Amino acid sequence: MATAGARALVVVGASHAGAQVAASARAAGHAGPIRLIGEEPCLPYQRPPLSKGFLLGKVDAATLPIRAAAFYREEAIDLLPGTRVAAIDRSARTVTTAAGQRIGYDRLVLAVGARPRLPPVPGIALDGVLALRSLADAERLRERLPSVGAAVVIGGGFIGLEVAAALTALGKRVTVLEAQDRLLARAAAAPLAVHVAAVHRARGVDVRLRTTAARIDGADGRTRAVVCDDGSVLPADLVVVGIGVVPETALAAAAGLACTDGVEVDRFASTADPAVLAVGDCCRHPNAYAGRSLRLESVQHAVDQAKAAGATAAGRPTPYEAVPWFWSDQFDMKLQMVGLCAGWTHHVVRGDPATGRFSIFYFRDGRLLAIDSINRAAEHVAGRRLLAAGRSPSADEVADESFDLAAAARA
Ligand code: NDP
Repeated sequence: MATAGARALVVVGASHAGAQVAASARAAGHAGPIRLIGEEPCLPYQRPPLSKGFLLGKVDAATLPIRAAAFYREEAIDLLPGTRVAAIDRSARTVTTAAGQRIGYDRLVLAVGARPRLPPVPGIALDGVLALRSLADAERLRERLPSVGAAVVIGGGFIGLEVAAALTALGKRVTVLEAQDRLLARAAAAPLAVHVAAVHRARGVDVRLRTTAARIDGADGRTRAVVCDDGSVLPADLVVVGIGVVPETALAAAAGLACTDGVEVDRFASTADPAVLAVGDCCRHPNAYAGRSLRLESVQHAVDQAKAAGATAAGRPTPYEAVPWFWSDQFDMKLQMVGLCAGWTHHVVRGDPATGRFSIFYFRDGRLLAIDSINRAAEHVAGRRLLAAGRSPSADEVADESFDLAAAARA
């Protein structure tokens, strides 16, 4: 399928974003070689199940690959697993792997992601303190579970809460420590966070806000307890850290590309060097929907931006303009969020939260900004259509359950 002499595309990072760039570039007609370089030793795999079904033992590692090995062969995408890129030479248009191999490119896409932050507290290196980002992390966590009675989760974001829900469902005693005065402070609005906290507490999770770990105590090198900043001591055979991520910018910065909180790209995912693009968690982009530059950390963003960047890399410049959306599964809650709620001034609840099925609509100056749906998939789908089309029903309309949202979305 690849045409000899045609332009070579090299994608560094073989997760959701990288795998999608390679597939989309080929689908958009890129005729030259495509190399997809990944540090992990396996096929690109789905990360969302790692903190949910995989921990619960309901999802097997064999079902995680995003696409089967045959896909890469058939599409002439040369997958290089277990390979770390150590440097980029933009004038020579080569990347050099840690093993010293030089690989030439005409177009380079950085899809290198982000790495978990770790709190700088005594005991962080003890056996039994784990972050969760990769399949290897999830396997380590899962292997340990049989010997765990009590777990402390540091961070009340999506990782922390999904892990807390899974561990609780497995019968572990779980405490979540969140430094902010509410859960999901970075990822979601307060009305949703209040409901999520109530559900976790009702299921037995000890949610402690405005609290963080001051140190982790161990015995024989293994974690035994977390000492909180308020002096309380929580027994812990396992400590899971989910306090956010740091974008992987070192490669790009060393190659002289502008990086702030992420590699800076334009709406075509291009850096200031038109031969180099960046996508996914690692980049900061002008978001058409938000009307400002930001860095988004979600699988759906990675995939949507990578689709556009893949077409651009194939020579069909395509801006990234998707409305951001996210989802999370915790206990029996399917949370689906669309739009960006930053700057909301008022909200409306549609449905009765006591039933566990409702949506929250966020407005600014009468304009719909974002929707969180809890076990209301149809409203999420309608909301995606509304926001993508720039339509904004009024607060009174959405509060009225007889108002047909799906019809408004189709109008
Ligand atoms: P988040 O940034 O979403 O949440 C981390 C939370 O921990 C923040 O509220 C943070 O507060 C708090 N925190 C920071 N330091 C401490 C501390 N020392 N003690 C206690 N709390 C602290 O990151 P996650 O780690 O949860 O997730 C990592 C990435 O993966 C995110 O981008 C997330 O969106 C993504 N992800 C998405 C999922 C989904 O979409 N379903 C599922 C899992 C992960 P502060 O802001 O003050 O630092």
